[in-house]
Amino acid sequence: MMTDAPYKIRKLLVANRGEIACRVMATCQTLGIKTVAVYSSVDKQALHVQMADEAVHIGPPAASESYLVIDKIIAAAKATGADAVHPGYGFLSENPGFANRCADEGIIFIGPNAASMDAMALKGAAKVLMTEAGVPVVPGYHGDEQSIEHLAAEAEKIGFPVLIKAVAGGGGKGMRIVEKAADTKAGIEAARREGENSFGNGKLLIEKLIQKPRHIEVQVFGDHDGNTVHLFERDCSLQRRHQKVVEEAPAPGMSTEMRRAMGDAAVKAAQAINYVGAGTVEFIVDVANGLADAPFYFMEMNTRLQVEHPVTEMITGQDLVEWQIIAAQGQELPLSQDEVDVLTSGHAVEVRLYAEDPFNGFLPSIGTIGMFDPFAEVAPNCRIDAGVRAGDEVSIHYDPMIGKLIAWGETRTDAIHALVDLVAETPITGLSTNRDFLLRALRHPQFIEGDVHTGFIPDNEATLLEPPQASEHDYMIAALAVWANRQANNQTDQSDDPWSNPDSFRLNLPHSEQLKFETSGGECLTVNLEQRGETLLARVGDHEHSATGVILAGITLTFTTDGLRKRVFAEVSDTIVSLIDADRSLTLKRHARDGGGDEDADGPGTVIAPMPGKILELKAAVGDVVERGDPLLVMEAMKMEQTITAPKAGTITQLDVKAGDQVADGTVLVIVVDNE
Ligand code: ADP
Repeated sequence: MMTDAPYKIRKLLVANRGEIACRVMATCQTLGIKTVAVYSSVDKQALHVQMADEAVHIGPPAASESYLVIDKIIAAAKATGADAVHPGYGFLSENPGFANRCADEGIIFIGPNAASMDAMALKGAAKVLMTEAGVPVVPGYHGDEQSIEHLAAEAEKIGFPVLIKAVAGGGGKGMRIVEKAADTKAGIEAARREGENSFGNGKLLIEKLIQKPRHIEVQVFGDHDGNTVHLFERDCSLQRRHQKVVEEAPAPGMSTEMRRAMGDAAVKAAQAINYVGAGTVEFIVDVANGLADAPFYFMEMNTRLQVEHPVTEMITGQDLVEWQIIAAQGQELPLSQDEVDVLTSGHAVEVRLYAEDPFNGFLPSIGTIGMFDPFAEVAPNCRIDAGVRAGDEVSIHYDPMIGKLIAWGETRTDAIHALVDLVAETPITGLSTNRDFLLRALRHPQFIEGDVHTGFIPDNEATLLEPPQASEHDYMIAALAVWANRQANNQTDQSDDPWSNPDSFRLNLPHSEQLKFETSGGECLTVNLEQRGETLLARVGDHEHSATGVILAGITLTFTTDGLRKRVFAEVSDTIVSLIDADRSLTLKRHARDGGGDEDADGPGTVIAPMPGKILELKAAVGDVVERGDPLLVMEAMKMEQTITAPKAGTITQLDVKAGDQVADGTVLVIVVDNE
């Protein structure tokens, strides 16, 4: 079936980092291909470097000085004798100049040729090409005449509302919705400015705004012999600010006819540009009247492997990186369309785990990962793709995605259940993540019903983004964790030297202590913990709770309370207790044992810059009375706009920054003090 390779890749350099670099190397290992990692100075100890057979340092942390420098990547490939380069996604993956340079240097580029990339690089030109190839595109204007008058007339012709897009735009930037004729001029100017500033290209296209869209994309593959197949669709409608959060395959509710029509359109799109390798044809589907017979339109083609490729791998049982390597070696694709159709079964769902704080405006978070095990044993239908492990630093330099959790099931419901279990059993601590938000999205009745569209997250923000509250029970568990952690440490210490660690908590001796905890919201509670024989009594406020059999083994805290045996993931340090269960992650600050720290609760709410960035706009001023969560200012950090909100209710007494200021990590931005 599979043809012999005209050329076999022996050593492959992965021009990327993080989970995708690890993912590519895993396939290389199974194929017996040696791997070369490249790394910036902050990635010296990174997982992808550890996984590779060889590694080459390519410069400082900034991607523009390391992972994006073509000369350095080529030099690394030459120095190590790599005969192929895999670009992953992002970075140089869709850079025609890089593909050309590899070709010039006699290095196999794992991806399509530069001409295919060029054909799809600009949204307008790609749409013209697709229309010629008979692929449906969103009704609109994709022409060269760019005067405001002409564009405004075209907008009128299409009918409002319309979407104005910078042809060179990406990542949701350079897009403006215009609801009525009076706003057209301003919309055109804004989109043009953004296109010029962010992409160096002010050319625009205008299209009909799809009011209730679903994002459905088709995985395609082409080989050098002119074969093109598709590996079905993925639904990526759960997005936040045009960024995918949950992806699944197949698309819920899609009919066989529509699947066939979309698959055919995607293959046609790929064939129109003689596509070789892995590509994704993205469609927007207008589901205002449901999915059955809904019109679908070509949106763009991504000429690389996508983040969400694992869901396709799970329903087809194929390794897409292996397919990429096969195509790049000049071999025929492993399967025909008919064979793919027969092999495909079940349903797969993926969630993207991001280092960000959904409960605080999705602010990207940085820090050292406490607990997280990308190699944890998972059910056979589950998978974790990650490029970091406990102890690794998530920095401001790169994408905040920590990894992906993926599950397969016979049915969509089975897949969702398996994924909920996987997320619940994958604790992560040390920095804020979107784990709890993902759990809520996966459990949302509307998602479970398959009623997905791109407005799902914004429409359901109230339920998805309500900050988790700590209950009295949580404070009790935190106290149990502190106690059990001490017991566990004492046991280890005592085995070394039984006399060195006089413990105040001797078994069977009554003893009590006060433990004080504070939530991230500034709420403070004291737990009086008393040991009576085998039982721990925890008094929180006016209530007394009791627990027996309290054990912390590794990160797993078990105890019995109210007749129920419970299990929670817990991490205890001198300053913090993190509790993670199937519903949520909670981090409580520990106060010193002497009970000091009250002043913190009533003292100033100091807002510091969570990372280096630029102040864009002030939303409050000194003297303003604010509620907790009120917007204080907008800053740009990690290329994203972040709204910084009040940590507590009170009056602003200090606000020393102004719009345009560049601030360092840790700069005091605002101080809020209690009223009265
Ligand atoms: P980018 O290249 O910036 O990602 P896309 O053209 O791929 O831009 O569009 C990004 C997202 O914007 C889509 O996934 C979809 O949610 C939304 N979108 C794009 N075009 C339309 C449209 N005509 N109507 C409504 N939403 C759209």
